[in-house]
Amino acid sequence: MAVQTTAQFEGIVMFRKDYRERDQLVKFFTREFGKKMFYIRGARKRGFKLAAAILPFTRGTYVGLIREKGLCYLNAEKKLTQFEQINQDIERNAYITYILNLIDSAFSDNQAIPVWFDMASDALDMINNGFDPEIISHVFELQLLPTFGVQQEWQQCIVCHRTDLPLDYSEASGGMLCQNHWHIDPRRSHLDRRTIFYLQRLSSVQLKNIRSIKVRTETKLRLKALIDTIYQDEVGLSLKSKHFIDTMNSWN
Ligand SMILES: [Zn+2]
Repeated sequence: MAVQTTAQFEGIVMFRKDYRERDQLVKFFTREFGKKMFYIRGARKRGFKLAAAILPFTRGTYVGLIREKGLCYLNAEKKLTQFEQINQDIERNAYITYILNLIDSAFSDNQAIPVWFDMASDALDMINNGFDPEIISHVFELQLLPTFGVQQEWQQCIVCHRTDLPLDYSEASGGMLCQNHWHIDPRRSHLDRRTIFYLQRLSSVQLKNIRSIKVRTETKLRLKALIDTIYQDEVGLSLKSKHFIDTMNSWN
């Protein structure tokens, strides 16, 4: 692209922060240009005309001055979608915040990643419509692992590639081991078949193809424990929004 250009783009408001006395910096996830920081002059003034366009998690069609590097400027909005259930529900809000934080951590700014934009867009619709936000966040966690440089083989034995024998996850091996190779890792996960099934599904499924999700509580606990361990040990990512979710869950 040119150093700067006025363009129409699809965007999702990732987060915003106050800047100077009356202004805000708003990070947009754009479909066309990747993640971009926008300088919104007068955003905190009463009656600001683009106030609705920069509310958290708004998705819309916008027009702005896009700069290759540095801050961008918003000129107008053409169509906005607000997600009422996400805005009103602390739990849905927390999971969407976490998913957008994950994407923000996994990719650098100014890199077009339309596939991930579409997935984030689907996640907004699905979580707003009542899909289990924890399961949706697992889809992002699992499918972002390669971007974080952590390749895991979920579908077959990492040694012999068999899929017909019972499989178990081995963190040390970086994926599944079949029964014949369980001896390689005495500390394998000892996961049940149901948890293995969901790991294989969630790590490969296209989000928008999920029609309904109902995962048992004990399976959810195992999935979460395993994915948390991988993120702690292998990715080394510690996000405030994730700690918030864990704290929130401990209230229940
Ligand atoms: Zn094997």
